[in-house]
Amino acid sequence: MPRPAAPDYVFAPPAPTSLSIAGQAARFPVRRVYCVGRNYAAHAVEMGHDPEKEPPFFFQKNPDNLIPEAETFPYPPETTDVHHEIEMLVALHQGGAEIPVAAALDCVFGYGIALDMTRRDLQGQMKKMGRPWEIGKAFEMSAPAGPLHPVSAVGHPEEGAIWLKVNGALRQSGDLNQMIWKTAEMIAILSRFFVLQPGDVILTGTPAGVGPVQRGEQLEAHVAGLGTLDLTVT
Ligand code: MN
Repeated sequence: MPRPAAPDYVFAPPAPTSLSIAGQAARFPVRRVYCVGRNYAAHAVEMGHDPEKEPPFFFQKNPDNLIPEAETFPYPPETTDVHHEIEMLVALHQGGAEIPVAAALDCVFGYGIALDMTRRDLQGQMKKMGRPWEIGKAFEMSAPAGPLHPVSAVGHPEEGAIWLKVNGALRQSGDLNQMIWKTAEMIAILSRFFVLQPGDVILTGTPAGVGPVQRGEQLEAHVAGLGTLDLTVT
């Protein structure tokens, strides 16, 4: 079979953002980045919300906001209040629409660590005005990430420590078992609103203790079984 002729683009399209995979040379190409809001009760409370189990809500970052193999986080412009949010990242190698909870984990390729860095001042202004969150959430380099760990190596993490230190001081601390919506539930619910595809990743929410970062600080982000992501704010 002859290959179809390459489309005649007016400029060369960029290569997809891809995440490294522990123990494999192949990389994971990212299609979309979904994020879940307020998925740990104690974080919902610190943000001024009722921790009662309400339906999860979602927002997106852009795939090219990810920093694969992150070692630095460049302090972004137009803000004086950038917050760290450590999250477990779920990477999908299968998708679909209206995926049943019982089948949802079959979609998961692996898990990793990511930071949902947030321009909290801008997010707060947008919330107040009822406007979209993109300028607070979906900015350049807003999602430093570590390597993926395949399900074949780590299973489906449902409990274990998730924490973040700034210059060695513990700032965020929780347990994966405190997630209000579990991985399978999040995939199932998300797939009612969007057609999920291979390459989609989900940031699963952050435990309590979010706070500001400053240039020069060292961040250490850890999820049990998934290693530690070390980076410097530059
Ligand atoms: Mn978040």
